[in-house]
Amino acid sequence: MTRFLRDLPADLAGKRGLVRVDYNVPLDAGRVADATRIEASLPTLLWLLQREARLVLLSHLGRPEGRPNPALSLSPVAPELAGRLGTEVLFCAPCDGEDALRASRELKAGQVLLVENTRFLPGETANDEVLAGRLARLGDFFVNDAFGTLHRAHASTTGVPALLSPSGAGLLVERELEALGALERPRRPFVVAFGGAKIGDKIELMRRFAERADLVLVGGAMANTFLRAQGFETGTSLVEEAALDLARSILSAGEGRIRLPADVRVLDRTGGKGESVEKVESVRVDAIEPGMAALDIGPESHARYAEALRGCASFFWNGPMGLFEDPRFAAGTFALAEAAAEATAAGGFTVIGGGDSAAAVRRAGLSDRVSHVCTGGGAALEYLSSGRLPGLDALTERRRP
Ligand code: ADP
Ligand code: MG
Repeated sequence: MTRFLRDLPADLAGKRGLVRVDYNVPLDAGRVADATRIEASLPTLLWLLQREARLVLLSHLGRPEGRPNPALSLSPVAPELAGRLGTEVLFCAPCDGEDALRASRELKAGQVLLVENTRFLPGETANDEVLAGRLARLGDFFVNDAFGTLHRAHASTTGVPALLSPSGAGLLVERELEALGALERPRRPFVVAFGGAKIGDKIELMRRFAERADLVLVGGAMANTFLRAQGFETGTSLVEEAALDLARSILSAGEGRIRLPADVRVLDRTGGKGESVEKVESVRVDAIEPGMAALDIGPESHARYAEALRGCASFFWNGPMGLFEDPRFAAGTFALAEAAAEATAAGGFTVIGGGDSAAAVRRAGLSDRVSHVCTGGGAALEYLSSGRLPGLDALTERRRP
């Protein structure tokens, strides 16, 4: 059983709470460009500060590959956090040194210490026990509120709670698990949509959903793979060749519950008379030519998909319907986002999971009009497909020898 903040001992006053947060924020010229993740950490930090705990915060930022990299320092986060918490936030580098240990011990009630990027050390992603031990010294109890990293077994996610007890999941993690848990026994009709480009990673998850959902809408490069599996020409479209057999078996097991696009938006480089000209057009899926790349679902398809969302009671969506970063191929994704917002307004429960899908819904200005946007794509997918996350398993009660 996962433990949460309410399962921690009642008296936390004066104790050092070591909190794994997700401050993997975008930086721009040494400043925090988007503070969404800092804001998302506040409920847990305020909950602990109200109980007079002293807080030490751990996070990674970017992929420094085990070496200190000033461009990926967490130091710009400290003033941003201090302003929002209304308390002093000290900063210390490196995260595992004697200075950090001393600073943690000297913290006064209500003070917060943020330590440097854990991925500046190679032991973080290697889940090195020595590093985990040095980090565990910084707290008297452990809280993990970094939902987006729960699918990783790293020193700061699984190593520390193996050594530091008691431990529990924070409020952000709890909220994510609630939203995803509701999809385990969804209200029906239950519609899911899959798109995006990481087909190899996701097609197995899609198979699982295809067994449980009433309708599966397929778009993006995922749809290209299914079209090819059915024998259609897909030109130069992105297709996952290794997934064709699995796609065929999903289609036959799906018994008509799986919807593929009827038309696609293509970039046509066929060219005339040896000249290469680029043309964007919508074509039926049986009219894709060898020089074409399908980069979005077509207008008839997104009208059909939007219609399919009308009246759904639950909806889960992973993966954009097209290459939405390019405005010429964004219409399918934005139309589905709009349909999801309308389904939510009509009483449906709608969850968007996946980094790029979430970014697309944000770009459409609709993140407040769906039920839940996951803060961690990889973690959400792993939890939905296996029901487990290494970072959560690490927070369960440890049996003492
Ligand atoms: P998520 O991050 O939501 O889990 P993925 O990472 O699997 O989604 O895929 C997102 C990417 O897929 C986006 O960058 C998008 O441009 C790309 N994509 C979607 N459809 C297509 C397509 N038809 N061809 C090429 N790329 C696509
Ligand atoms: Mg992605």
